[in-house]
Amino acid sequence: MIGILGGGQLARMLALAGHPLGERFRALDPSPDAGVRDLGQLVVAPYDDPEALDALAAGCDVVTYEFERVPAASARRIAKATPVHPHPGVLDVAQDRLTEKELFGRLGLATPAFAPASSRAELDAAVSSVGIPAVVKTRREGYDGKGQFVVNTPADLDRCWTALGGKDLIAEELVDFDRELSVLAARSADGDTVVYPVVENVHRAGILHLSRAPAPDLAPELQVAAEAHARSVLDELDYVGVVAIELFEAGGRLMGNEMAPRVHNSGHWTIEGAVTSQFANHLRAITGRPLGSAQARGHAAMVNLVGSLPDLGEVLRINGAQLHLYDKPSRPGRKLGHVTLVADVPDELEQRLSLLTRLIG
Ligand code: AMP
Repeated sequence: MIGILGGGQLARMLALAGHPLGERFRALDPSPDAGVRDLGQLVVAPYDDPEALDALAAGCDVVTYEFERVPAASARRIAKATPVHPHPGVLDVAQDRLTEKELFGRLGLATPAFAPASSRAELDAAVSSVGIPAVVKTRREGYDGKGQFVVNTPADLDRCWTALGGKDLIAEELVDFDRELSVLAARSADGDTVVYPVVENVHRAGILHLSRAPAPDLAPELQVAAEAHARSVLDELDYVGVVAIELFEAGGRLMGNEMAPRVHNSGHWTIEGAVTSQFANHLRAITGRPLGSAQARGHAAMVNLVGSLPDLGEVLRINGAQLHLYDKPSRPGRKLGHVTLVADVPDELEQRLSLLTRLIG
């Protein structure tokens, strides 16, 4: 039995990948409608409910998590009796944008210039040190572009401080990047690591819209560099499972933006587009099995279905289209599913993608 903190679409896709491996699943989620509900047992309770945490872990061989905002104390409580992978110390790093960037810096992955600020006066100093324009983010709890404020002039600083609620902040240089990329990798307990091809990501309103894998026209040395960075992060953290590192490509260089200590939306293409999916490799890693190849099978694109669904019949008419629905009621801004397109050559992929984009808008 595998326990998962969180029962959303990532837990659902972990369970879908785990059933062929003979695994059973139990998830903890505050919502009775959590997307994993029909694929395993669901404990409905808050993430810091001690009894629910014990009920989740009871009889599990291993517990993992599908989102990084899970309270580290909850993961630590479970880890006293049941292995938790990635280990809870990873959450301490990944929940704080400052420690994350400091880690990248220590390991030789360039980052945008950054400086912490915990008071209004420190915000002035932090923004002058990184320069204007700057993007100021809450150190914790931000995701999908939430908890961020772009400072274009010093006159914005008062509004920025108020808008972000006077919390612990990090100011970053606003990078004029050429594109956004991510690299996903899996590491097993014995240190074996596989790295997926780097992916190109396009966001809409702060939410991932499209991933192309492998990233088109990526300089081979950037793939090599991304692999080395992913391996050093995994080794440094003694990490077991899948990690995603979000990157900017700027002027032929990579910069680290943030890491997600879990399976990741920009890796959904791996279900059809790679020899072993990110979900299967995460499960293989946390259950002590050998990892599978992370090689791409041709070219893939993944498009998120956000807020409402298009005509699904038309989507399925596109050659090479695979539909994944998360069994969630629609709501603006909500990820309801995704479509993966696969093709043998990039031109074919782009043709199929333009058909899909016409349907989705
Ligand atoms: P994050 O929550 O850090 O992933 O940021 C969400 C999005 O904001 C990223 O995907 C980028 O598009 C943008 N962004 C974040 N940090 C920076 C930065 N330092 N410079 C430019 N754009 C950024």
